[in-house]
Amino acid sequence: MFDLPAQRAHLSEKYDLTPSPELAASMSDIYDRMSRVVSPADWAIFAPYVKAINDLKAERNAVILGHNYMTPEIYHGISDFGGDSLQLAIKATEVEADVIVQCGVHFMAETSKILSPEKTVLMPDMEAGCSLAESITAEGIEEMRRRYPGAPVVTYVNTTAEVKAASDICCTSSNAAQIVAAQDSHTVIMTPDQYLAQNVARDVPQKNVVWWEGSCIVHEQYSATDLRDFREWNPGTRLIAHPECPPDVVAEADFSGSTSGIIKYVTDEKPEKALLITECSMASNIADALPEVEFVGPCNMCPYMKKITLEKVLFSLDTMTGQVEVDADIAAKARLSVQRMIDLSRQLGI
Ligand code: SF4
Repeated sequence: MFDLPAQRAHLSEKYDLTPSPELAASMSDIYDRMSRVVSPADWAIFAPYVKAINDLKAERNAVILGHNYMTPEIYHGISDFGGDSLQLAIKATEVEADVIVQCGVHFMAETSKILSPEKTVLMPDMEAGCSLAESITAEGIEEMRRRYPGAPVVTYVNTTAEVKAASDICCTSSNAAQIVAAQDSHTVIMTPDQYLAQNVARDVPQKNVVWWEGSCIVHEQYSATDLRDFREWNPGTRLIAHPECPPDVVAEADFSGSTSGIIKYVTDEKPEKALLITECSMASNIADALPEVEFVGPCNMCPYMKKITLEKVLFSLDTMTGQVEVDADIAAKARLSVQRMIDLSRQLGI
């Protein structure tokens, strides 16, 4: 558990973190990326943290990877690269940095460490987990292999290193259907997201897709009735769902795609009004870049993603605490599953 009072005492001894409208004004180039969704008063509170973190990054030769579900002050204020979990893991291998600060959840930091074992990977809050990653263990994979002998195991990247190591190949929400379709076997095991698997099963009818019963606590909350009601009460709104949503929700949507797929769709289509059926920060992080789109309607917050704050990032980078380690044998096996996905995706031109 975090000792927040001790953490704050440590930070206040070293940094002046008093809200500062003057400092905020001097960093207007950063603020311009989030001014639609962050008030000037909040920016005056965030600015001292953003400056301290950005200065410290240079000192430590660190790079910050920010997931699309991070809050705007993290995504736009301190992240060097934003994206979905796979984009960030690949970026981790490309950057010439000694330290990577993963602004996302724990499995993402593990994936970065698996792919870049020589780098120090920091997780600002080790308790930033994921309901999908927590739903299955390596024993669960073995249980599925016993139930479906000979069937390959395609595992979503939202899993621990042990689970990736026990699997044959990984997938993301943007390449899952193609990865499943490319397997030699008629029966394909998908873990751990039952809804992603069911959505893939619909898109790849030539395969017998079987699944583990995990789910994302953010996306499973949406119902098809919610979408139908919303469409009736807000005609003309484009409904855009993440494939971790149940299949009847995806069926009601106008488009379904991964977080990067959603960004591309909204950027290309520029609908007048859009409802993003996913985590709340997605819309906030693209709002300023798309002033012609009105983002409307309800969203669901991921409590794990929201554990990452500017304060925790500053503390982690200052003290170099929260270093992620993965057992070398497990990392080597997990790397194979991730690398097979990257290689197959390239081969398929995804
Ligand atoms: S949004 Fe869902 S899948 Fe993503 S980290 Fe949160 S619980 Fe996990």
